Parts: sequence; C-alpha cells; structure tokens
Amino acid sequence: MSVGGGVENFRRRRALVTGGAGFLGSHLCDRLLGDGQEVLSADNFFTGTKENVNHLAGDSCFELLRHDVTFPLFVEVDEIFNFACPASPVQYQIDPVQTAKTSVQGAINMLGLAKRLGVPILQASTSEVYGDPQEHPQTEDYWGHVNPVGVRSCYDEGKRCAETLFFDYRRHLGLGIKVARIFNTYGPRMHPNDGRVVSNFIVAALQGEPLTLYGSGEQTRSFCYVDDLVDGIVRLMRTPGDVTGPINLGNPVEITVRELAEKVQEVTASRSEIQFAELPSDDPVRRCPDITRAQATLGWEPKMPLETGLRRTVDYFDDLLRRSAAGADSD
Ligand code: NAD
Ligand code: UDP
Ligand code: UDP
Repeated sequence: MSVGGGVENFRRRRALVTGGAGFLGSHLCDRLLGDGQEVLSADNFFTGTKENVNHLAGDSCFELLRHDVTFPLFVEVDEIFNFACPASPVQYQIDPVQTAKTSVQGAINMLGLAKRLGVPILQASTSEVYGDPQEHPQTEDYWGHVNPVGVRSCYDEGKRCAETLFFDYRRHLGLGIKVARIFNTYGPRMHPNDGRVVSNFIVAALQGEPLTLYGSGEQTRSFCYVDDLVDGIVRLMRTPGDVTGPINLGNPVEITVRELAEKVQEVTASRSEIQFAELPSDDPVRRCPDITRAQATLGWEPKMPLETGLRRTVDYFDDLLRRSAAGADSD
C-alpha cells in the first residue's frame, strides 16, 4: 500500500530533513521539493526559524514538525538527511551539553529510525572533525587534531562520535549511510546574529559598524556557496549503497579572514573600519578541503565565485535589515 500521495501507483519519494528550518536545511528542503520529492522537516527552532521555510507553507508536498532529535521520532520516510545541530561556535557553546546530545543522541535516534525503515541516511558532519589540523589541505584519511576538553569539543567530539555511530550501524547492521564533511558554507538565510564570520562581516558592513577580526585575521578558511553545497549533498545521497564517505564538501580556495573582511568591504562599498579582538580558544589556524574524492565520486566541485556569492548574500541581508527597520518604525 502506498504511504499517502493519492494515486496508488505514483508516490513521491519522501525525505526527512532534520534541522530543516536552519540555514542549510531550508535550502535542502527547497532543492528536494524542486526535484519533485515530498519533504518532512523536523526542527526544534533553536537556531532555525519558521521564516526560513515560510515560502513553503502552501506547498502540499512540505510539512514542518516541531521536534527535538534528542527524543525518538516515529515517522515514515524514504530517506533521511540529518542536519539538526547548531553550527556556529557562538550558538553551539550556549548550551554545550545540549549540543553534544543533539549530535550523539540525535544520531542514535535518526539511525534507529533509518534501521526500522531500512532507508538510507546522510549525516551532515563537519570539517571540525579535523580540529586544528596539522595536515594541509585536509583529506578524508586525516584523523584530525582535536582538543577533547575545550570549548569547541561539544561540537567537534559530538560530530566525531556521530560519525562513529554511523559507521558502526553500517558495519553491524548493514545500514545505508552517507557521511558528508561540510566545510564553511555561507549564503542567504544565515541568521544575522548567529556569530559566523560571513554574516558578522556583512551585517556590520551594512550597518556601518566595524568589522572585527579575531586574532591577527591571518587564520584561513575556504567558503562554499550554499547552492553548491546542497548540490553536493544531493549527489552524495544519490550514489550507490557502497558509497559511504566520509567525503569532504567545501571550496578548495583558501583565504585569510582578513582578506574576507576586505572583500566584504569592497562588495558592500562600506566605509566600516577593521578592528581586532581576542582570538577564541581552539580557533583553527588553517582550514582547506582536499576535494579530490568528491570530484572523483560525485563529479562535484563548487562553481560559485566568492564575489558573486557574497553579492547574493549581501542582497539578502540588505533586504532583511531594511524590512526589520521598517517593522521597527511602524511599531
Ligand atoms: P543552523 O544553525 O542554521 O541550522 C541547524 C538547525 O538545526 C536549526 O534549524 C536548529 O534549530 C536545528 N536544531 C538544533 N538542535 C536541534 C535539535 N536538538 N533537534 C532538532 N533541531 C535542532 O546551521 P547550518 O549552518 O544550517 O548547519 C546545518 C548542519 O550542517 C549542522 O549539522 C552543522 O553541524 C552542519 N555543518 C554546517 C556548516 C556550515 O558552514 N554551515 C559546516 C559544517 C557542518
Ligand atoms: N528510534 C526512533 N524512531 C524509530 C526507531 C527507533 O526514534 O522509528 C530510536 C529509538 O527510540 C532508540 C534509537 O532510535 O532509542 C536507536 O534505535 P535502535 O533500534 O538502533 O536501538 P535500540 O532501540 O535497540 O536501543
Ligand atoms: N571570525 C572573525 N570575526 C568574526 C567572526 C569570526 O574574525 O566576527 C573568525 C573566527 O575566529 C574564525 C573564522 O573567522 O577564525 C571563521 O569563524 P566562524 O565562526 O565563521 O566559523 P569556524 O570556521 O570557526 O567554525
């Protein structure tokens, strides 16, 4: 018997996206719906918002469920994208125990769901599993250099444990797993106050406030535009069952945080000054993905140039700030 869908012989593939009201999750929902799937988004709205998926409210193929993945979830779906977890260091350090629980207990529950249903499950893992890397660029074979007792550990070790759980469910139960190690990704729908560097710099520049570099600003990152990332995620989910990852998804173009600040000043034509603040504890010095495996296995690499991606993100924040100022004026 078909699960919903109406016509007996036609049923859309139904995806569960946990964290589906967040930055990446909401874009993934858009993409899956655009591909003709049904989407169930489960989110506890810790860092995500209903506004991120408001435009989907009238779509009969989309459902939004308030749910915390640290609790069991019994639904019927054909595949699971496990994206629930705050991603910004500022946000994931607000309640570190909940962050670790979300990564670990959330993974156990979603793996249990995948096991009961016999469906594939993809984990949104992270470049943070490499910690403050001693090898450069990072390949998937590198085991990382992670502080187990620092302020970032709730996230880094939580995500590492989640990867372990995914591979043990695979080894012991034959589950269809996919693990994506996502590097810094940016774009529209990042939360304006979530504390990540791209949103911080753009919001400051648009408001004429100083752009704050933590430390010297010589630390590096590589920034992937959200549409490219989502395309990599969907390609990974569509691979044959023997493709498990882990697989790096990110932009291999490395830049310093100082260069990013200058790029944002340029794109926003801002006169904001650059100021300095203390470097947070355990902040990685260098980070850049080796994406050879993603290129070979998925035929994937990022296409969006940084400047174009930043312009689109600036347009988003510009509109958001204008609307919120207009809302405040009319109060
Ligand atoms: P985000 O904070 O915008 O989204 C996370 C979503 O998960 C939010 O909607 C939040 O409300 C929800 N959430 C948090 N805890 C939950 C819980 N216990 N139960 C249900 N929902 C919960 O962050 P994002 O950038 O969209 O990141 C999404 C995923 O991708 C995360 O798992 C993150 O670790 C991973 N990731 C993101 C990046 C990046 O650069 N954006 C990099 C590496 C990994
Ligand atoms: N689980 C869930 N939804 C399901 C099936 C399981 O949330 O449809 C949860 C379940 O509550 C359990 C976890 O997933 O805590 C792990 O399930 P599994 O069957 O792997 O382990 P067990 O229940 O045997 O501990
Ligand atoms: N950063 C910064 N100013 C900010 C926010 C972040 O200089 O306003 C730095 C931060 O110290 C780190 C880099 O930018 O070196 C990326 O930070 P983010 O929080 O975006 O992500 P991370 O890669 O550290 O998880």
